[in-house]
Amino acid sequence: MNGPKLNIKAGEVYKSSIQCSELEDGTPVTIPYFVMRGLRKEPILLLNAALHGEELNGIEVITRIFEKIDPMKLYGTIVGVPIVNILAFRARNRVDPIDGKDLNRVFPGKKDGTITERMAYHFFHKFVKKATFGIDLHTGMKGHLLVPHPRIRAKKDFSPPLEHARALGTEVIFYNEGVNGMLTVEAGKEGIPIVCFEIGEAGRLNEYFINAGMKGVINFMKYFGMLKGKPEIPEKQILLRNYEEIISNRGGLFYPRVEAGSVVKKNQLIGTVRSPFTGEKHYIKAPRDCFIIGVRSQPVVRAGTAVAWIMAFEEGNILPPIRNKSLKKLPSKTVSMTKEKGIEIKE
Ligand SMILES: [Zn+2]
Repeated sequence: MNGPKLNIKAGEVYKSSIQCSELEDGTPVTIPYFVMRGLRKEPILLLNAALHGEELNGIEVITRIFEKIDPMKLYGTIVGVPIVNILAFRARNRVDPIDGKDLNRVFPGKKDGTITERMAYHFFHKFVKKATFGIDLHTGMKGHLLVPHPRIRAKKDFSPPLEHARALGTEVIFYNEGVNGMLTVEAGKEGIPIVCFEIGEAGRLNEYFINAGMKGVINFMKYFGMLKGKPEIPEKQILLRNYEEIISNRGGLFYPRVEAGSVVKKNQLIGTVRSPFTGEKHYIKAPRDCFIIGVRSQPVVRAGTAVAWIMAFEEGNILPPIRNKSLKKLPSKTVSMTKEKGIEIKE
């Protein structure tokens, strides 16, 4: 099966696309890609973004990685697929609105399925299966601003390694159950570690989150020997399991009092919802000591709208130091914040 052209010379960059289906008017559905071949061919790092069409920060990360990295200083090959779900991207939507299927729930795809299933099939068989490992860039949904963090998705029969997620160098790593059809789960079953990396919010380009994404990818490449230099990893990384949605029970305008990445004590104010008619205020407080993984960025809420996403420290632990690697260790800001607030985390 034809895939991206990997057989290029050391130091070369090649850009092309593969065709995977056809629209009503005969327009081909393609997946555009870039390949950069360094001084060696292996390992092959797959960088992809926009499995969900309105998640833009990752597209920018991949474009900038290809601008920034000198192939003569690269050990291995980078395959970049900045927009996998080209139809959803054109529609400024999470999924293709005609097909309605979520591309990140239908892997490994179907050769003769709907357009989204066909895109999944071609991407999975032609790109994913050729990679040594990969980083799958995502953001929160529209209005959901997520702090940069990797998401490790486990299944009963499959528990992914932590190392690839840790190599991104974030303070917090999220670990919980995945569902079949997710790229990271299905690639993992094939023995290809792909780590999902969440950076920011859908529908926006934001320099802070783009830079965090770039830093994560470069750390990962340094960690696995694709670039020279020491990856910057916090001295203590925290593994947190499961998240909880904090909802408003009233309608109105939401005024957050915390940021994504904040450490919050039980009963601390997360934000207020104020009625634009009566002026009445509804106070939303933290149900337990927690890390704020995401905050609602769009202020209009109804009763039942989620305004924050939290992860409880009681369900987490500080990971043991990574062994046998030369790292540039950074102080752990999140651990310092928990100490300041008198919150304990298991080691
Ligand atoms: Zn996504």
